[in-house]
Amino acid sequence: MKSITDYTKDELLAYQESLQKEYEGYKEKGLKLDMSRGKPASSQLDLSNELLKKPEGLYSENGLDVRNYGVLDGIPECKKLFSDLLDIDAAQMIIGGNSSLNLMYDAMARLCLFGTQGEKPWKAYDLEGTPVKFLCPSPGYDRHFTICEALGIEMITVPLTENGPDMDIVEELASKDPLIKGIWCVPLHSNPEGICYSDETVDRLVSMKTAAKDFRIFWDNAYGIHHIYEEVSLKNILEAARTYNNEDRVLYFFSTSKITFPGSGVALLASGLENIKEIKKHMSAQTIGHDKINQLRHVEYFKNPEGVKNHMKLLAEELRPKFDMVTSKLEEHLSGTGLATWRSPKGGYFVSVNTLPGCAKEAVRLAKEAGVTLTGAGATYPYGNDPEDRNIRIAPSYPVLDELEAAMDIFCLCVKLASTKALLNK
Ligand code: PMP
Repeated sequence: MKSITDYTKDELLAYQESLQKEYEGYKEKGLKLDMSRGKPASSQLDLSNELLKKPEGLYSENGLDVRNYGVLDGIPECKKLFSDLLDIDAAQMIIGGNSSLNLMYDAMARLCLFGTQGEKPWKAYDLEGTPVKFLCPSPGYDRHFTICEALGIEMITVPLTENGPDMDIVEELASKDPLIKGIWCVPLHSNPEGICYSDETVDRLVSMKTAAKDFRIFWDNAYGIHHIYEEVSLKNILEAARTYNNEDRVLYFFSTSKITFPGSGVALLASGLENIKEIKKHMSAQTIGHDKINQLRHVEYFKNPEGVKNHMKLLAEELRPKFDMVTSKLEEHLSGTGLATWRSPKGGYFVSVNTLPGCAKEAVRLAKEAGVTLTGAGATYPYGNDPEDRNIRIAPSYPVLDELEAAMDIFCLCVKLASTKALLNK
């Protein structure tokens, strides 16, 4: 097949005309399809409905009435469940509320407001006119970038490789600039690229020299057990950091949002013991405690890590046909055209597509007009600014399979149409 990038002008014009006809046909159908956010479909949520009947008990293992006030950092059996699942010492863990993003925002806000371990509050730099900076491996999770923007933290885009952030660049930047205070990481099945960090990346992150003493790795392991095609292992970052006496560099986040119910799950934060002590002190001014009924509910439902892993297998079965659909449609419509590249993830929630430079925004706009909502182009980069305007995040979980099929046909058509326009304008 001749790559469309090699078409002559006349060939391109004829091709555009046929695409446009097809596109108008879709527009007339008045479809309304949503591939914008990583929301589970109701069929996935149904798999956790038993949770709604729980808890059966009222008391936690240590005799505490879960309906009442008490316990800032989580009931012991819930800590144990996550401790066994993630191989993190329970003493290094705080069970939070329903959202890990909330824990991330609070962690960042505390660092801005109070600083950590005697270092200057990060907001003070801002007030002096030299705001602190964060490294943002991109394409990445838009809500991480929103936290930085909201708190006045400057973002530095760092490219992602097959093995995680480009560590040569990360080390170079972090070792030289004391205003660089941390890095965002989604280490397994990353949002949106599906990248899994190698052991070497983990080791380099915890062992590298940083000019800032209070450098923090925001380790958002949101998809840590979300394997769809293949189980990928991830080096235990807290354990790795321990060997360098550096556990407080790591702030580890996890939640059951994409396991049970988003918005009604259980989230956690783990770190070195000094950090945990400091965080608990601040947190005790913020809340008397989080939702222990929900913690007990989750423990009763899953019982042990095997219970969680078995549940993840059921979820993977729900998701696999949808990911198959996305990749097969990309193959069918775009393979060999020279118009797009994509990664086939092993797990997680997204497929990341890269168009020709300058075509992502237009493809997303065209799709929207034909009734298919995608994540806004640019959202996967700091400040919503994809420098090459190439990256589009596809979230296949929410639509049912038929809708997804139609949405992907339209999406691929819009990529072709946007590319043809760009090629003709060259
Ligand atoms: N981190 C990442 C990488 C995510 O993709 C998401 C959900 N889209 C979250 C965090 C949000 O997690 P939570 O519901 O626990 O706040």
